[in-house]
Amino acid sequence: MDDRTVQSALEESLEGFEALRREAQAVCEKTFGDEVYVRGLIEFSNYCRCSCKYCGLRVENSELKRYRLEKEDILEIMEEGYQEGYRSFVLQSGEDTYYTAEDLGELVRAAKKERDLAITLSIGERPRETYRYLKACGADRFLLKHECADSVIYDELHPHSSFEERLRCLVDLKELGYQTGSGFMIGLPKQSTKTLAKDLKLIEKLQVHMAGIGPFIPNEMTPMGTCEKGSCEMTLKAVAIARLLLPEAMLPVTTSLGVIDGGMREQCLNYGANVVMQKLQPTALRKLYALYPKEIIDGKSMREEKRELEAWLKSVGKKAVFDRGDHPTYQK
Ligand code: SAH
Ligand code: SF4
Repeated sequence: MDDRTVQSALEESLEGFEALRREAQAVCEKTFGDEVYVRGLIEFSNYCRCSCKYCGLRVENSELKRYRLEKEDILEIMEEGYQEGYRSFVLQSGEDTYYTAEDLGELVRAAKKERDLAITLSIGERPRETYRYLKACGADRFLLKHECADSVIYDELHPHSSFEERLRCLVDLKELGYQTGSGFMIGLPKQSTKTLAKDLKLIEKLQVHMAGIGPFIPNEMTPMGTCEKGSCEMTLKAVAIARLLLPEAMLPVTTSLGVIDGGMREQCLNYGANVVMQKLQPTALRKLYALYPKEIIDGKSMREEKRELEAWLKSVGKKAVFDRGDHPTYQK
């Protein structure tokens, strides 16, 4: 599909898009059957030095209470997750330089010692040397969304960095052998189906192993608090096109999609998504990891949440898989 074809597909109504949806679903089933990979997500620090205009963790948000988990706390959550059967963990944070490359390396090494599990880091932009070091310590994957492939929009939303730098990071990560994830937001101001086609063509060009595509949700604690939220329908169409462009990619049902409309999570699985994330840290900390406003249900154990997730996936005809869930082309 060229840029123009992608753009026209994004402009279809959901009815008009139905043939493409079926194709995306068929491609997904051909590669993954009814399996949906579950990733255990640990949001370990909400400190961030960046100024992304859409995000509640931005450094300018002085209203937000900040937290950081120490290595031992993170390992303890991972151990509980491991006991419950999780074999794929995503360690995510704001861009928090409190954790040096050595700290993160030690964490990864300790987590992988004598355990067969996959670690995805999602900690933002770091020097190539740090990425190289963390890979050598055992990190398997890295998630760094390009957020928006239009460099003018990107640079406006990220005054602390540049699109060029973002791409540099993604290219480094791929070259270093990470299973690399990118992705983008739907519904950013000044975005159009033309720029969204660029987003999709970029993940195809980079041949990323994962792509998180989710709607923007306005957060009152940011300069974009009064902007419109992103469209769920557009998100579904973008996920389906991503599946067609990258048949073997890991495509998560993004949390923000479920926050806007819980029913959309099931829909997204019918549009070619094959991954879901389950937060593992205590709910008190989930509340503080406030990228955007969301409801958080207290009082459930990790086991209960896992059972509920399995039951939900079963009810929509899918099978929850807690293995490492590597990209099909990945050689261990
Ligand atoms: N700091 C790291 C990881 C945490 S942010 C990073 O930026 O890569 C994780 C993701 O949250 C971002 O990639 C962004 O796409 C998403 N996000 C942040 N604010 C959001 C908002 N208001 N609506 C929807 N998604 C948002
Ligand atoms: Fe920080 Fe990531 Fe939020 Fe940007 S999107 S402010 S880098 S946590």
